[in-house]
Parts: sequence; C-alpha cells; structure tokens
Amino acid sequence: MLISLIVPCYNEEESLPHLYNALCEVRDSEACQDKTFEFIFINDGSSDKTAELIKEYAASDPCVRYVLFSRNFGKESAMYAGLQKAKGDYVAIMDADMQDPPSLIPDMIKSLDADECDIVAARRVTREGEPKIRSFFARSFYRIINKMCDVEIADGARDFRLMKRTVVDAILKVTERQRFSKGIFAWVGFRTEWIEHVNTPRVAGETKWSFWKLFRYAIDGIVAFTIAPLRFASIAGFICAAAGFIYLLYYFIRAIILQIYNDVPGYPSLLCFILFIGGLILMALGLIGEYVGRTYIETKGRPVYITAEESEEEQN
Ligand code: UDP
Ligand code: MG
Repeated sequence: MLISLIVPCYNEEESLPHLYNALCEVRDSEACQDKTFEFIFINDGSSDKTAELIKEYAASDPCVRYVLFSRNFGKESAMYAGLQKAKGDYVAIMDADMQDPPSLIPDMIKSLDADECDIVAARRVTREGEPKIRSFFARSFYRIINKMCDVEIADGARDFRLMKRTVVDAILKVTERQRFSKGIFAWVGFRTEWIEHVNTPRVAGETKWSFWKLFRYAIDGIVAFTIAPLRFASIAGFICAAAGFIYLLYYFIRAIILQIYNDVPGYPSLLCFILFIGGLILMALGLIGEYVGRTYIETKGRPVYITAEESEEEQN
C-alpha cells in the first residue's frame, strides 16, 4: 500500500531538513513496515535554497518526488498540484514547518486501515503561541462562515489530513481556480475523524501569512462557499428602502394633514439618510463586485499553477 505525503514549501530552507528527517523516521518506524511511502515536495516559488534542498533529497532518495513552480502561486495551488501528482492509496497534506506533527501519521494510517472513516484530520484545540488578535479574528471568521454556509468548517481544522483515494479523486473533481481547501474538504463530505492536538510552534523560519493575506483568504473562503452575503445586500437594501418610504409618507402626511412646512431642522437627518443609503449601495456594489470578479477569473480558465520543473516519472 502506497502512502503519499504532500508538503507545500515556500521559503522553508530552515525547517525542511527537520521535516524530512521526521518523515524518514515515520517511514522507517515499526508501525509502518508494511507500507511504502512517497514524499511529494511542492516548491511554491521560494526565493531561498528550498528548491535545491528538495532536488538534493530527490537525488539521494527514490521516495522523493517534487514539483517546482515557476513563481509563488500560494499554498492552495501547491496543495492542488500535490494532490494531482500523488499516486498513493492514502494521501496526506502537511506543512513544512513541523506544525503538523509527523508523529501523528502512524495513528492516522491505523484509523483508515480499520475503515472507521475516510478522512483523518487534525485540529488544533489551542491557539497558543499565536497573537491574540489573530486568534480573535480567526474565531470570528469560523463563526461567520458557519452561519452562512451549508457545510460545516471546523474551527481550528488544519489542512493536515490523511485521505483515502476516493476522497482525493473527489477533491480533484473540484476544479475551481480560487481554491479554499478547508471549504472544499468539508464540501466533498465523507466520514471524517478528528485528531486533536495542541498548537506546536514553527521549528524555524517565519509564518508566510501576514494579517492582510489571511484577511483576503477569509474573504475568498466566504465568497467561494456561499452567496449569503449577496442576499444580505438585497435584504439590507430592502429594509433601507422601506424605511425611506415610511419616512417619506410621514412627511407627506405632516405636510398635507397637519400643514407643517417649516422643515429646515430636518436637514441633518436627511443628510444622515443620504450618507447611510449611499454607503449601503456602495457596500452592495462591492459585494457584487467580489462575485463578478470571481466569475471573471474563473471564465478565463487559467491553470491553477505553472510547473517549471518536476521529478522524473517512471512510465507505467
Ligand atoms: N506556503 C506555501 N505558499 C505560500 C505560503 C505558505 O506553500 O504562499 C506553505 C508553507 O511553506 C508551509 C505551509 O504553507 O509549509 C503553511 O505556511 P505557514 O507555516 O507560513 O502558515 P501558518 O502555519 O502560519 O498558518
Ligand atoms: Mg505554519
């Protein structure tokens, strides 16, 4: 039985050796004697020595296969490339920085072997070592997206997971370009078992996700998985229009029946309303823009990534 381990790497020259050693340990451990492994490293356009490291490993170790991207396409694209390349019966995705403990892999394999589930996924139960403000926004994101979407996206779920072949094939059938894997994993379904672990800090290097990048990613996730915000825009618009109409009626009655005309003091409230409604319209337009933009990008049908070089494949 073949097990593929996919590792997206972006400027990971410091942590990659740690991970590679840990993966070799797993491969050579007692528990995994009856399994064969392939390690698939995806170099996501790193500007450091990551690519050279990966090629070195591939030269000395037949388990290692790789794809080198022509530039940085993002972790999502790297995961997709890895899934496409993987041939294993079980496929796992893990970070290069040891935040996804490789020591969990034997247990994950055991669960799949016992056929208790189709996916074993890891989930952080703590966010220790992460800036407080980031945890707060992350938690809010999960609350919001789960209210709006039909599929449940677990808080603290990482991309670290071991999946059966059927699940991988299902994920590869989702060919959209603006990928939000946490959502896609939940969307394809299948029986999932969660392994909980505490947050492990990075072994080396720095996180590649700035606050702004994470924020964009959150918007991508919401827009990719629900059209609820569009509905929100129309509901809010309707409420405002209704309020405006009632307001208008009120003044009309005041003028016709009560004969009150001297309305200069009403000027501030008028201004408020104009500003408020103007803001709402802009917001709704922005929302629609997100979806239209997305449609535009999808219709261009560009590939998710461009390969500069990949490990040689033996012909079968
Ligand atoms: N990564 C990538 N492309 C990117 C950013 C990150 O392939 O543009 C990889 C990175 O090398 C690592 C994983 O995605 O293996 C997770 O990144 P990181 O540890 O920076 O994220 P965090 O753990 O802080 O969420
Ligand atoms: Mg990390």
